[in-house]
Amino acid sequence: MTAPLIVSAGSSTHTGLRRTLNEDALLASTPIFLVADGMGGHEAGERASAAVVSGFSRYIGRQSLELDDVLEALSRVREAVDTLSVSAMGRAGTTLSGVVLADVDGMGYWLSFNIGDSRTYRLSGGELEQISVDHSVVQELIESGELSLAEAASDRRRNIITRAIGAGSTGDADFWMFPAEVGDRMMICSDGLSSEMSDAQIREILTVEPDPQTAAATLVGGAVRAGGRDNITVVVVDAVAVTSRAGVPMRAEDDIDEDTRPREALAGGLN
Ligand code: MG
Repeated sequence: MTAPLIVSAGSSTHTGLRRTLNEDALLASTPIFLVADGMGGHEAGERASAAVVSGFSRYIGRQSLELDDVLEALSRVREAVDTLSVSAMGRAGTTLSGVVLADVDGMGYWLSFNIGDSRTYRLSGGELEQISVDHSVVQELIESGELSLAEAASDRRRNIITRAIGAGSTGDADFWMFPAEVGDRMMICSDGLSSEMSDAQIREILTVEPDPQTAAATLVGGAVRAGGRDNITVVVVDAVAVTSRAGVPMRAEDDIDEDTRPREALAGGLN
């Protein structure tokens, strides 16, 4: 059976210049691409983000996943992180943002999910769009009109998240599902990137650097040079072949005349 969506990916992570531990973790292997940013003292953060990677690793090697697979992995991961918190790890917690390859009636789709303030972006036709919506205090203040985007970037509450896996949170993940197109570039990052570089700087690097591994490393290097105040993790995923509605795999050189329906929120804000 033809894979509905074939990708090429790269990834990079760095402790940054101020922290002693790297509490971020990543998974970048078909069909799962994710970043987890752990929190909590005494190695709790490292163990929480590692628990996310381990919970999703069982799906490596499949061509695609379904929403139920992701929900099942999430509940398994949540249990694992809660166990860490109970066993003397303090309030272990982690964010999770990412995308899995999905198959809808033979067509290649992205299934994106998020909990916390790590982010998933899509570069398509030269436009960079943030797919995920941060679960953070400043995001809520932006939405209620109390903070502008510019004010949010320097607000002292910008690191406070409102949902997590563990850390006493029961907030659900948000999901988005949308058709993949050849040439799509998904970028997943921890806040160590998005707090050091603007969307315009990120877009520039993603646009000019064709190789996903070099793009990921260049983004991480840029965030380190900008100050590296937090751990920095980046995953870049390029759609190199997508099965279209007619069941014909499309490659980059083919004419693209895809349905460009807006993405659908499957389960936004469940709590
Ligand atoms: Mg962070």
